[in-house]
Amino acid sequence: MKTVTGRTDRVVVVGAGLAGLAAALHLAGRGRSVVVVERDPGPGGRAGRVDLDGYHLDTGPTVLTMPAILGDAFAAVGADLAAHLRLTRLEPAYTARFADGSVLPVHADPVRMTDAVRDFAGPAEAAGYRRLRDWLTRLYRAEFDRFVAANFDSPLGLLTPDLARLVALGGFRRLDARIGAFLTDERLKRVFTFQALYAGESPMRALALYAVISYMDTVGGVYFPEGGMAAVPRAMARVAADAGVEFRFGAPVTALERRGTRVTAVHAGGERIGADAVVLTTEPHESYRLLGRAPRRPVKLRAAPSALVLHAGGRADPALGHHTISFGDGWASTFRELITDGRRMSDPSLLITRPTATDPSLAPPGRDLYSILAPVPNLDRGPRDWDADAAPYAEEILEHVRTRLLPGFTPELSYVLSPADWQRRGLVAGTPFSYAHSFVQTGPFRPRNLPPGTENVVLAGGGTVPGVGVPTVLLSGRLAADRVTGSHRTGTTTLDLAAEGHR
Ligand SMILES: Cc1cc2nc3c(=O)[nH]c(=O)nc-3n(C[C@H](O)[C@H](O)[C@H](O)COP(=O)(O)OP(=O)(O)OC[C@H]3O[C@@H](n4cnc5c(N)ncnc54)[C@H](O)[C@@H]3O)c2cc1C
Repeated sequence: MKTVTGRTDRVVVVGAGLAGLAAALHLAGRGRSVVVVERDPGPGGRAGRVDLDGYHLDTGPTVLTMPAILGDAFAAVGADLAAHLRLTRLEPAYTARFADGSVLPVHADPVRMTDAVRDFAGPAEAAGYRRLRDWLTRLYRAEFDRFVAANFDSPLGLLTPDLARLVALGGFRRLDARIGAFLTDERLKRVFTFQALYAGESPMRALALYAVISYMDTVGGVYFPEGGMAAVPRAMARVAADAGVEFRFGAPVTALERRGTRVTAVHAGGERIGADAVVLTTEPHESYRLLGRAPRRPVKLRAAPSALVLHAGGRADPALGHHTISFGDGWASTFRELITDGRRMSDPSLLITRPTATDPSLAPPGRDLYSILAPVPNLDRGPRDWDADAAPYAEEILEHVRTRLLPGFTPELSYVLSPADWQRRGLVAGTPFSYAHSFVQTGPFRPRNLPPGTENVVLAGGGTVPGVGVPTVLLSGRLAADRVTGSHRTGTTTLDLAAEGHR
């Protein structure tokens, strides 16, 4: 594995999002002196927090999977995740509600899920689910450590016996067709393929390899931290500071000082911070701008779809679980509208999160907080004036939620985030989900974490390997640390860690 060259005693990490915090913990644990520089007043980045009228809104991720990878970052500095974050495993992980009125609780527990599938669609589908679960587990085992949690120096790194195993498992067939080999009920197939959207693809186009995301939530399970998702970066920053990591908040990086092919200092918030090596967790286009280079790529990278999120507070409704996926009737048409046509969904599928189902302290007494996520096209594919359109579209989405789930619901608090907000944060094409995970933008084909032309800079975050999402950006921080220090394995693989987390 290639690494940076020269001394690596002092490392500056740019960005205190999950990727930067993970990098800082792994580097500090390996004896490096680390300074984290962040433009915001506190840690979190996309995993942000807004406090309004007694409500505590998580403005980023709501679905936490693979907590063992988080535990690995804490363990890097000798800290125990459980001592710093109280995680609840959600049962069910989510509830799927379909346009025909049917409802399926999605359990990660195999026995409960088999029973739920049998009640929902009969014994043949329940048997198909067990075979699917077995296949997802084998796919995950063949793929994760070798292809996801791995640094690649060249696409030739793919050519291993594990690749043959992936081919044999059908990993290079289309996702919907592969899942269709186990399940025939169209509603059930949606439950195990909608995750393609997390990768910025449709289940009809995505390769079956991406079923590894379905493994993470439907087999590995979904968790929620006490205090909300923002508790995760806050705990990471606290533990990092205890381990000696220095933080500079409110300090946007304005320039990287160079000598030849090395970056020797980071200029931020009026300070010059000397560095032997630098980890940039900014969006790749911003990282390349800071480096004064253009990425070498013949074809423009394709961004994932974006989202509009309505955070609404009001009357409590104990009937609604923590996560609800409300599927519209349309399916192939929904992906076509979002990804190909650049239009809003005509029959929306929505993710509705009610964090107060698990932690009531996130809203005033007797109240609930809901976050309603509607996928929308990114600004490359469907440019529009979201500053003008966000409020009316949020109202449209709310009306769907009233009709499907919360009749008569009138929020006392509304807070909307749209592609215009992500764009103002400098996120590519106004999407918080970075570049899509098409095959040609995955693994060794994704923007590399060792940018050419510099000897001591490493990239991390959703725009580089392995990709977007909480577990993956945490891994990107570890992979960046490996590029600085050389591979550092304790003998425990990600697979072992994940298996431990899933027991
Ligand atoms: C609405 C929404 C829902 C999501 N849902 C999920 C989900 O349910 N599950 C899941 O797994 N993932 C989800 N994600 C994705 C996940 O949140 C991101 O992939 C992840 O948080 C990105 O982390 P990061 O560290 O790569 O980037 P960021 O969090 O963006 O961190 C980069 C940091 O760099 C800082 N920075 C940028 N430029 C500079 C500069 N010049 N100087 C100093 N600092 C700078 C930024 O302020 C930021 O703090 C969601 C994201 C959003 C927004």
